[in-house]
Amino acid sequence: MLATASIACCAQPPRPVIDSAYVSVERAYFPQLSPDTSHVAYSTVDGLWLILRDCATGSDLVVDSVGAPGYDARFGGDGRLYYVTMERRKNNLVYRTAHSFNPADSSHRVELEAQHGAVRLCPTASGMAIEGEHKSRVIGDKRDKWVYTVGSKLVIMNGGHKTEVSPAGKCAGYIWASLSPDGKRVVFDAVGKGLYVCDPNGKVQARLGNYLMPAWLDNDYVVAMLSSANNRTVKKQQLVALPADGSGDVIELTQPDEDASYPMSRGDGRVAYSGRHSEGCVALMANAECEVRNAKSEVSRQTHDIPAISGLDAGKISPRVFVNPGHGGHDNNDRPCPFLNDAAGATVQYYESESNLEKGKALCEILSHKGYRVITSRVDNTTADDLPLFEIVALAANSGADAFVSLHSNATGVAKRMNFPLALYRGYTGEPKSEGSDQIAKAVLKYAGANQLAPWSATERAAGDYSFYNWGYGVGLGVLRYNKLPAMLIEGTFHDYVPERCRLLNSDYCWHEAWVVSKGLDDYFSRPDKSGKGLVAGVIADSQAKRSYKGQLFGRDSYRPVSGVEVVLSDKHGHRVASYKTDMRDNGVFIFRNLKPGTYHLDVPSRPLDEPIEVEVKAGRDTYADILY
Ligand SMILES: [Zn+2]
Repeated sequence: MLATASIACCAQPPRPVIDSAYVSVERAYFPQLSPDTSHVAYSTVDGLWLILRDCATGSDLVVDSVGAPGYDARFGGDGRLYYVTMERRKNNLVYRTAHSFNPADSSHRVELEAQHGAVRLCPTASGMAIEGEHKSRVIGDKRDKWVYTVGSKLVIMNGGHKTEVSPAGKCAGYIWASLSPDGKRVVFDAVGKGLYVCDPNGKVQARLGNYLMPAWLDNDYVVAMLSSANNRTVKKQQLVALPADGSGDVIELTQPDEDASYPMSRGDGRVAYSGRHSEGCVALMANAECEVRNAKSEVSRQTHDIPAISGLDAGKISPRVFVNPGHGGHDNNDRPCPFLNDAAGATVQYYESESNLEKGKALCEILSHKGYRVITSRVDNTTADDLPLFEIVALAANSGADAFVSLHSNATGVAKRMNFPLALYRGYTGEPKSEGSDQIAKAVLKYAGANQLAPWSATERAAGDYSFYNWGYGVGLGVLRYNKLPAMLIEGTFHDYVPERCRLLNSDYCWHEAWVVSKGLDDYFSRPDKSGKGLVAGVIADSQAKRSYKGQLFGRDSYRPVSGVEVVLSDKHGHRVASYKTDMRDNGVFIFRNLKPGTYHLDVPSRPLDEPIEVEVKAGRDTYADILY
């Protein structure tokens, strides 16, 4: 719902007053009130349409529908509506263009031509500061104050003077920074640490706790969202008013069952927000009442020319990838799966959050090494690292990434076992909401399906989440929802298939899955592997040894892996090149990386083979060879 909640403050704590007259808008997200309250801008659930409601007439106008203009539009102090569009250009790099729209005469303007990386909109008293990574522009008075965030850095602009501070120390990043109406304080979210209030020099004045999407209600109170969301499902959301000095009571502005989200205030005590009802969202606001048509079906898409970029050579730009290792914190939502591990001779814990993190850390390292720029949503595995979806998506959006990759493993949830890679993107199958998402999924799956370290029960599969879960329009997987980057989530393997769970306990196995994903990204961004190296990977297993696991087994998983044994790789002259000792987690996995092309031999000194296994290493290729007794 989009409502205006009036708050009378001073000595008394504020009390919300929700006006009784409402405007209802189907599926309205990220509502923004114009400075004179004459208009409300909002986005459709997919972020693809930016719509402006005239509060006096109740009519809606599509401001833009090209380049995903939704979700982060802002009104400037000059009354214009500013927004950023995205476009994939050469090598699938994403370029962002800043636009504005004048509600008074319905005129469009390109405010800052296309550039690679983040373009951040920072409202000011007289207009808008547009902070791009290569080019910036201030519309209005350059001496105005504004704030924005870059990684774990808060940037405060004041009278033409720039201050960069990190009041909350390092974390996955800072987001949602804004200035109090009197310009004396800044509120922002340090991801995983909660909300901070600091002065314009970065001195921390208060910590407000774990809330999302803060905005100044007035100089003394911050409106924010309380969310019990986790990485898999978005649960109930509630809006609260927080005393900015950290003292006093938290005031509930909405009921828990109203499921309110996306609070926005211009510091005048009114709040615009989205509320979920039976289907999609309904927006409410004071002093107006009308049902609106479904804007999507009745207006045509607009087109506009995007000016050519200058001074940037796409060939020299590093692609930027946002890596999201799924879940976190060893909690219940983390899918803990204790199981009897034969090699360990004991019950062993498996958490999806652990193997996701191993894969995520490896992917960041591999991509950095390959010359990418990488941003990640977590590097640790505590409850605080299990970020709400809203934070993950906002972090990714603020990072200026070219692609978003979420790493998971799968489970059937029923007795039947299977094992195959599944890549999901937002939208119906074959119709991704964010262009390029299906291409990333296909590129990654090509290598995931060719990965022979895991025996597969079926071929790899890519699907849109609207289709796959049979949820239909506007629902979809949490971390892909409200995420307008070219994005995909890969369920690399099935962790409820016990032999797979054993493999996922091996960090080199997780590294290899990340390696496979990186090869898909290389294809997507047209970056051929120039390392000139290859790798050899396989599993050592014994057909004579027994498994205690009696469930269905695929391929060579019917053999019992050999644990704690040394596999030796020699060159064609018999000189030892490397050795790998398999772990004690009943997977038999061994991997030799960074090998020069050529002929090699595999053998096991403690259980010599009749004939060493000859393997051929080729540049840029993965060679698979199992050792079976
Ligand atoms: Zn998962």
